[in-house]
Amino acid sequence: MTVRWGLIGASTIARQFMIDAIRNQRDGEVAAVMSSSPERAAAYAKENGIRAAFSTLPDLLAADIDAVYISTTNELHLEQALAAAKAGKHVLCEKPLTLTTADARRIVEACREAGVVIGTNHHLRNAGAHRAMREAIAAGRIGKPIAARVFHSVYLPENLQGWRIARPEAGGGVVLDITVHDADTLRFVLDDDPVEIAAFTQSAGMAGGGLEGGAMCVWRFKSGVIAQSHEGFTTKYAGTGFEVHGTEGSLFAKDVMTQKPAGTVVLRTAAGEEELTFDREDLYTRALRAFHAAIHGEGRPAATGEDGVWSLACAEAALESARTRSAVKIEPGI
Ligand code: NDP
Repeated sequence: MTVRWGLIGASTIARQFMIDAIRNQRDGEVAAVMSSSPERAAAYAKENGIRAAFSTLPDLLAADIDAVYISTTNELHLEQALAAAKAGKHVLCEKPLTLTTADARRIVEACREAGVVIGTNHHLRNAGAHRAMREAIAAGRIGKPIAARVFHSVYLPENLQGWRIARPEAGGGVVLDITVHDADTLRFVLDDDPVEIAAFTQSAGMAGGGLEGGAMCVWRFKSGVIAQSHEGFTTKYAGTGFEVHGTEGSLFAKDVMTQKPAGTVVLRTAAGEEELTFDREDLYTRALRAFHAAIHGEGRPAATGEDGVWSLACAEAALESARTRSAVKIEPGI
């Protein structure tokens, strides 16, 4: 059975990655797109070979579609996800699910009540590099994990220097944009949940309107692992990485906090250094495959709605920590 997708949002991420990811599935069809502007909807549909274009949500939800992919600006996700669930459509929603953890829980609850699948598009847990790290840790190859470091400060490409750096009401800022991904990737790689976070943020030159363009966070996990993460919009040459250090070994991943199936992972132990091998499948294609399987009753999305609540709870706590200058407990409430 083909899964017919309706795109909510004529966005860059859909154009660059998600349309292809849907079309890469044996049973995936991009059936319709919705934009708030009829002209943009029509132009986007034409440019991307999508047969139907709509400019209102009720029209899209009344069309012949089975699932929606929501990639509008962040303040719109809540209303759109609730309406889609009510209409009986499966929901794959971009991160952050909403602007507050409480609202994110409402989406998860609405999807549960409607009996539809809800997933959060945290792509990084689909990367071969992150799965290789998680498997190495689970297999005991670094002994007992002690600490992790995430390097995820990038330079925002010019075409994305819009609402992210100018519109607080749209959920701009680096914490809602990138710290949420780091939260999810740390949880996935460590197979552990964070309990507390302390964050410093900065404006760093690009973000306006009181928004932060850089953040440094310190995390404590249930197991006792501590972690640090650096997120940014304004560092052109920093590169990205992810390290986990344990009693018997350390993992060093380089260039892995990205949308591409890229990078390297090296395991260093008493035996020396070993480069881990992993598959290079497109992250979003893998995520879509898991989502389709979940629709067909097999397994769960790669990142569930609950995972989206968790990552937003971390981001919300980080922002509160930066504001109050104190460590804040992370309480997803699920
Ligand atoms: P865009 O800025 O490309 O699109 C967001 C919205 O902006 C669109 O829905 C569209 O509204 C409007 N828009 C786009 N282009 C124009 C234009 N030329 N003129 C006027 N309005 C325009 O956002 P992104 O693709 O960067 O991000 C969308 C969502 O996806 C966010 O929630 C973000 O956090 C998430 N994201 C996730 C990534 C991941 O890897 N998981 C990566 C990047 C983003 P309309 O639909 O009404 O036309």
